[in-house]
Amino acid sequence: MRTGKSAVTMFWMAVSGACYGAQELRISVMVFDQAEVPGHMLSEAQERAGTILGKAGVEAKWIDCHQPANALVCAMVAQPDRLFLTIVTEDDRQSFGEDVLGRSMPGDRSSHGVYARVLYRHIQAKAARERVNVAQLLGLAMAHEFGHLLLGPKAHSADGIMRANWSHSDMELGAKGQLRFTDQQAQRIRADVQSRIEEREHPES
Ligand SMILES: [Zn+2]
Repeated sequence: MRTGKSAVTMFWMAVSGACYGAQELRISVMVFDQAEVPGHMLSEAQERAGTILGKAGVEAKWIDCHQPANALVCAMVAQPDRLFLTIVTEDDRQSFGEDVLGRSMPGDRSSHGVYARVLYRHIQAKAARERVNVAQLLGLAMAHEFGHLLLGPKAHSADGIMRANWSHSDMELGAKGQLRFTDQQAQRIRADVQSRIEEREHPES
């Protein structure tokens, strides 16, 4: 019964993802990797997070801000549809418990949140404890923090990628690409990204 239901859900998510992909809802993600994550792992994490956003109907364009060629674009002022992701070993501003994998600064009614960070040492420790792949967990943590930015306040939910605390089976499912935004969250994310794009294109004077 459960399996049948989730198969139907997955089908519809795949269909809706394809439809909304055609509308080119795209956000840029400027990546500042201060934790010096090995390149292949960062790629794998980005692919996981990008796939999760893709299933919600949003394409992520990753920009490696440690590449000199991207210095100019990475130094540009914040835009609503340009997120900043910093990967730190440990948060230097505040001490968090080891279960905290990331932090973000969601916006409010007057501005969109664009700043997210993930705590790499915490992700490594959690991956070791739970025996899940580090790169995959990093990708899940990224997607979760983007969820905070794109969904705004009260982004946590009882199911999916926005659960406040993932169970072991959530993380295992996530590593296989089966932890996602709910349909309702995906809808809110698409609307939010659409409004971000419009705001950049037509800024209020
Ligand atoms: Zn959260």
